[in-house]
Amino acid sequence: MLKIGLTGGIGSGKSTVAALLAERGAVVVDADRLAREAVAPGTPGLTAIAEEFGPGVLTEDGALDRAALASVVFADPAARARLDAIVHPRVRARAAELAAAAPPGSVVVQDVPLLVETGQAGSFDLVLVVETEAETRVARLVDRGLSAADARARIASQATDEQRRAVADVVLRNDGAPEELAAQVQRFWSERVEPATR
Ligand code: ADP
Repeated sequence: MLKIGLTGGIGSGKSTVAALLAERGAVVVDADRLAREAVAPGTPGLTAIAEEFGPGVLTEDGALDRAALASVVFADPAARARLDAIVHPRVRARAAELAAAAPPGSVVVQDVPLLVETGQAGSFDLVLVVETEAETRVARLVDRGLSAADARARIASQATDEQRRAVADVVLRNDGAPEELAAQVQRFWSERVEPATR
C-alpha cells in the first residue's frame, strides 16, 4: 500500500486533485467527510460535544448546530482545542480503519485540509501539496458561494504556503487551467506513484 497525504489551503484544488487521483484508481479518504460523520446524530462524538459545550450546540432534532458551535469556538482558541480533541482522534481512527480496509497494493489518498496544522505529515509515504495564489483561491471560493471576507478569513486561519511546502514531497501548482492541473497529476502518477507500487 502507498499512503499519500493530500493537502493545500482552502480553495487550492485538493478535492479536484483527489478526484483526478480517484480516476486513476486511488482509494480516496476525505477527512472533511469523516469529520461530519464523526459528529452525526447518534454518534459518541456528538454526545461528547454536547457534554463539553452544552445543549445549546444542538438543534431541536438533536443534530449538531454548526453555526452555534462555530460562534462558541470562534475567537476562543481553548474552546477550539477542546473541540479538536473530540473530533480529530475520531477522524484519524476512522481514516486508519478505511485505509486498512483497502485491498492490498492500493494507493490510498487521504485528503486532509489541516494535515500541516495537525502535524500528520509523518503518517504518509508521500505528502502532496496543492498550491494556488491566495487571490485566485478567493475568487474560486466566491464562485462557490462564500463571501470574499469569509474566504480571506479562512485562508488567514490556516497554515501558510511556506509551512505546507516545508513538509511537501511534491507540490502541484494550480494557478492555471484545469487541464494544466490534470497534466501535473498525470505526471505525479507516472513518476511517483506507479514506480512506488510496482
Ligand atoms: P479545495 O478542495 O482545496 O477547497 P476544490 O478542489 O474544491 O478546492 O477547488 C475550489 C474551487 O475551484 C472548486 O469550485 C473547483 O471546481 C475550482 N477549481 C479548481 N481548480 C481550478 C482551476 N484550475 N481553474 C478553475 N477553477 C478551479
